Amino acid sequence: MADLLTHVVPAATLDRFIADIFAAGGCARDEAERIAFHLMGANLTGHDSHGVIRTPRYMLWLKEGKVLAGQSLTVVVDSPTHAVVDGNFGFGQTIGPLAVDLGIAKAKSNGMSIIALRHSGHIGRIGDWAERAAAQGLVSIHFVNVSQGELVAPYGGVDRRFSTNPFCIGLPASGNEATLLLDFATSLVAEGKVLVASNGGKPVPPGSLITPDGTLSADPATLYGPLTPSGPRDAAMGDGALRTFGDHKGSGLAFMCEILAGVLTGGGTSGPIEGGKRGRISNGMFSIYLDPGHFGATGFAAEAAAYARYVKAARPAVPGVDVLVPGEPEAHTRAQRLAHGVPLQRDTWQALLATARDVGVPAP
Ligand code: NAD
Repeated sequence: MADLLTHVVPAATLDRFIADIFAAGGCARDEAERIAFHLMGANLTGHDSHGVIRTPRYMLWLKEGKVLAGQSLTVVVDSPTHAVVDGNFGFGQTIGPLAVDLGIAKAKSNGMSIIALRHSGHIGRIGDWAERAAAQGLVSIHFVNVSQGELVAPYGGVDRRFSTNPFCIGLPASGNEATLLLDFATSLVAEGKVLVASNGGKPVPPGSLITPDGTLSADPATLYGPLTPSGPRDAAMGDGALRTFGDHKGSGLAFMCEILAGVLTGGGTSGPIEGGKRGRISNGMFSIYLDPGHFGATGFAAEAAAYARYVKAARPAVPGVDVLVPGEPEAHTRAQRLAHGVPLQRDTWQALLATARDVGVPAP
């Protein structure tokens, strides 16, 4: 049940409201609807950190020319099985589908493909892209970084050296079953979760952050500096860092995301930040698409689903708490929020209303 700090909005209403804001802010209607659809996708799957909470920040970037409306992909290198593509700093919700669809088309013809995407605006929840490939019967693997977006200390360090570098693997679903989908940031929590916590939302776990003197912290001010109630959150104002998950293993995976998504794509690593001032941040995404049919793996999705059922049948460590497989929490949350609405922190809702007012969009 919603508490006093939460505003619950029906999914369709929120979707239309967000699309109206972007349309009023200068995006063509189809692009505005795409941005809203993908932000909503994050809220519906429970990843509020990558959902509509991003609207004020995206609108600011649009105004400042840090992200551009109406862009398309430039193909820089092309072969039957791979491509390097440049997103020209267009909205990730426009660039992402174009890059993924190119990978899908190549993998369907040749069994596998690699798409190295650089200079995309924020591409949000990476699970969206794996789900898009899974809907076409493909396995996909994604390594992501944020050029000029360093926020995360490496294992054993206190200085920012990585972005939150998500890693994602999606499998095609069997029949009506949910997509098996592993999708996480290599930081202990995604930056957006610190953003949510800074707005009075769910606190981040202890030790998610580290101060310059090596003290573990859960205080969002470690990342954003002193917090004002409605002020914008700017990671340039804080002097601490997020930490990677899984000690040296998560830190190693974050490092490899930088190399594949930042260096091999040509989009650049998350740091160093030239002159100490963040330029335009952009996502790089190194994606591998595999068509199981080309591997002679007939019935791949059904076998994967059967294995998932076997895993789930493990006896629970805590009686009554089910063993879940990757993608399951998101599928549950989607069903729940589609039926009962999307809960938003009151500050998030107020920030959306203020952004809407700025561009003359009435509250729903
Ligand atoms: P998270 O810590 O919530 O982990 C999510 C993953 O863990 C999912 O695959 C989920 O199915 C699985 N999972 C969760 N609980 C489980 C359980 N009990 N049993 C089995 N599996 C379980 O995710 P996160 O690190 O907070 O990342 C959130 C989102 O942020 C992701 O969608 C990610 O793509 C996105 N992100 C994007 C960027 C970007 O630059 N675009 C950067 C960082 C993160």
